[in-house]
Formats: sequence, structure tokens, C-alpha cells
Amino acid sequence: MARVVVVGGGYAGLASAVRLAKLGHDVTLLEAGDRLGGALGRVEREGFTWDAGPTHTMLPAVVRDLFRKSGRPLERELDLVPVTPLRRHVFGDGSQVDLPTGRGDQMAALDAALGSGSGAAWSAYVDAFADDWDALRRDWFERPWSPELAGEHARALLGTRLTLHKVLRRSFKDERLRLVAGFGATLEGHDLRNVPAWVGLWSYVEQNFGLWTSPGGMADVADALVARLRTRRVAVELSTPVVDLEVREGRVAGVRTTSGTVDADVVVVAADPRQLPTLATHVRRTMPAIPPVLAHLGVVGPVPDLPHEVVLHGDPLLVLRTTGGTAPDGAHAWTVLGRGALSEDVVTALARAGVRVRDQVEVRVDRSPLEQVTTWGGSPYGVLWQGRSTVARRLGPRTPVPGVYVAGASATPGAGLPSVGLSAALVAQVVGPA
Ligand SMILES: Cc1cc2nc3c(=O)[nH]c(=O)nc-3n(C[C@H](O)[C@H](O)[C@H](O)COP(=O)(O)OP(=O)(O)OC[C@H]3O[C@@H](n4cnc5c(N)ncnc54)[C@H](O)[C@@H]3O)c2cc1C
Repeated sequence: MARVVVVGGGYAGLASAVRLAKLGHDVTLLEAGDRLGGALGRVEREGFTWDAGPTHTMLPAVVRDLFRKSGRPLERELDLVPVTPLRRHVFGDGSQVDLPTGRGDQMAALDAALGSGSGAAWSAYVDAFADDWDALRRDWFERPWSPELAGEHARALLGTRLTLHKVLRRSFKDERLRLVAGFGATLEGHDLRNVPAWVGLWSYVEQNFGLWTSPGGMADVADALVARLRTRRVAVELSTPVVDLEVREGRVAGVRTTSGTVDADVVVVAADPRQLPTLATHVRRTMPAIPPVLAHLGVVGPVPDLPHEVVLHGDPLLVLRTTGGTAPDGAHAWTVLGRGALSEDVVTALARAGVRVRDQVEVRVDRSPLEQVTTWGGSPYGVLWQGRSTVARRLGPRTPVPGVYVAGASATPGAGLPSVGLSAALVAQVVGPA
């Protein structure tokens, strides 16, 4: 049985800790803040709650696998329900489309909203990712990357100079379809000219497997994992920031915290590795993807009937999330994410885009990008895409320091709940049973 220390209690840390405890290790989780969950947490104010970060996830199979492999199945703890439609896209020219799940339904919706031929163009783009998804799932997302073991297709994808920007220009004459396809990476703060083409495969994943949420908010997933930490007897220390690794004779021997050293045979860093000087040298050529401007709104009275997510394209890009929280009767817990030229208040920008609720906002919690990064000790959006070399610049699941592994948004295979959940599974795979 190895003494394992997990650094960071966000989704990656929680998932790594429960998996490794179930594999028989003696696990201690050290969290800098005074609560667990990281971005997968809850903001509470005057009777309202909002998801602090994620409000939905792709690939529910990753969450199900986590719960099954760490104890009882997910279904015994909480319901993940599909989100339909996936989201509404509203464009600068006033046109809009509600994008459903499923290939045929997406084609029909796009043809009806954006003109005939749109559906076929979209399908040609999305279908092309089917083989990419198969190859990368096998060699990149579900097993530790190894160029020697990986198939030719996965090697070619990860090594390509082709960018998402180029593929979108080539695939679509209609700028609106480019916006729909590039939306995810743009919201996460990336410049599409620096994003490898294969990252577009999330459109395929979303089309085929949908988006899922918990009716009370995605923070329910963190609550269920916190309960599981107790079942699996994981020791938890809150308010314990780790400041570096303790390395002796070329191998990790523990971690240094602000209140002393904690011994360990294995350390899983589920936080931005740039914070720990021993690892920072290995990731100095990475940059964080900065989170968006965030405003949680408590809106009272009647509101327009809007889907789960409304994307208002333009500069600024505004994303309104109408679920992912709880509100008193007759009120609504909304969250607005903003990117780009936000020279005015987000509620004013929202009104300019046609959603007028300014006089109904009774409670409001603003969180700047800086505040988010400070609260979570790094960016929950992980590493900024700077071209194909970013793949190799990220660590994970192994690191150059023997006994040290990394999981989470800044690790391989990337940010977002599906990738972060998979990063914890990769760590458990390489550490193995006690
Ligand atoms: C506004 C917003 C909306 C999002 N929406 C979605 C969405 O809808 N769907 C989706 O899939 N993804 C979404 N994401 C991304 C998703 O939230 C993250 O990728 C994921 O939650 C990251 O989990 P993590 O555990 O890697 O990091 P974090 O959640 O950032 O957790 C890191 C934890 O480590 C702790 N920590 C940091 N440094 C130290 C240290 N030195 N010592 C000890 N502890 C430390 C922090 O306090 C924190 O608790 C969103 C992100 C944001 C910001």
C-alpha cells in the first residue's frame, strides 16, 4: 500500500483520490481552500445557488465509470439528465438556431434556421471526426500517450499543423456555421488559429452523446464525490496549500505545505503544476487559458422561455446559462459568461443582445477572471493552445519526477469535465493497485 498525497480538491483531485483509495492506497487529499470541489462548486447568496463553473458535461460515461470504479454506481447517488436542445445560437444578423442532439435532428434544425444546405455542410464537417475520435479515444484519452504504442492515425492527428481555424474556413462558406463549430474553444479562451484541427471532435462527441447535467446543478457531482471520500476513508486537510514537492534521492518523498512536510510515496498534483517550483521548470513554456468574465444573476419575475444555454455571438461573446442552480419561487438563477470587448456591464450587453432583465436582477455575484484564477489556484480552463506543440508541453499522467503524477485541467488530456475525469482515470491506471 503506497502513501498517496493528492494536491488539490477540485474534480481532478476528488476523482483521483477516490479511485486510488478504491485501489487500496492510503490517500490524503490536501486542499488550499476551505472547501472542496474547485470550479465544480457552488456559489450561494440570498436564497440563490449557482454552479460556480461547469453546468453540464459531455461524455456522461466518464462520470459513470468514476462512480462504478470507486464504489456504488452513479445512479444510486444522483441523476444525470440530458440537456435538450444543447444550446441556442443567436447571430449578429438576428438569425438563430436551437441545436439539438443527433445527426439527423441537427441537420434538420440547421437547414430550417440557416438555409438549406447548412445541415449537409455541418454533417460533412462533424462526420469527419468519427475516425479521429476512435483513434484518440484509444491512444490519447483512455490510455497514457505513448508514441510507440499509438496508431498512425492518432500520431498524425497530434502532430498535425492543421488548425481548427483553417478547417472551419475550408468547411463552411457561412460564417454562422464557423461560429457554431468554433464556439467551445473560443469560450475557453483560445485563438482558433492556435488550436489543432482535431479539437473540433468535441462537436462529434456532443452530437452523438449529448450534454448532461444534474437538475440541482453540477456541483451535486462534487458533493457525491466528497461523500465518497469519507466512505473510502480518504484523509482530507483543508486550508493546506502545497508549496512544493519534497524530492530525496531522485524520487518524491512528500510535499511541503505552509504548515510542514507530509510524507508520501506517490504524489498526484491535481492543481496547476506551474505553482510547484519542482514541476514549474517542466511546464515553463505553457500559458494558462484565462477564464471568462462571470456574473451570477438572481432574476425575479417572468423571464423569456430560454433553453439551458444561449450563445449570443459577436464581440463580446456572451453565454447565458439558465440552469445549473436553484432559486426561490418565481425567481431564476442565471449565469452570464462574457469574452472579448466587454467595455460595458454584462447585463447591459445582454440587453443589447435582446435579453432585457436589468430591472429584474435582485441579486448579483460578479467574478472576474483574476478572482477565479486566484480562488482556484490556477485556471480551470487549463493550458492555452499555442499550436500543436502544446500537446507535448503539458504533463501527464506521468512527470519527469519519479513518483509524481498530474491530473486536472492543466494536465493531459486537457480541460473540461470529460478530459479532467479521464486524466484521473489515467493516473489511476499508471499508479495501479496497492
Ligand atoms: C466559468 C467556467 C465554466 C465552465 N463550464 C464548464 C462546463 O459547463 N462543462 C465542462 O465540462 N467544463 C466547464 N468548465 C471547465 C471545468 O470547470 C474545469 O475544467 C474543471 O472543473 C477543472 O477541474 P480541476 O480539478 O482540474 O481544477 P479546479 O476546479 O481549478 O480545482 C483545483 C483545486 O486545487 C486547489 N489547489 C490549487 N493549488 C493548490 C495547492 N498548491 N495546494 C493545494 N490545493 C491547491 C484549488 O483550491 C482547487 O480546489 C468551466 C470552467 C469555468 C471557469
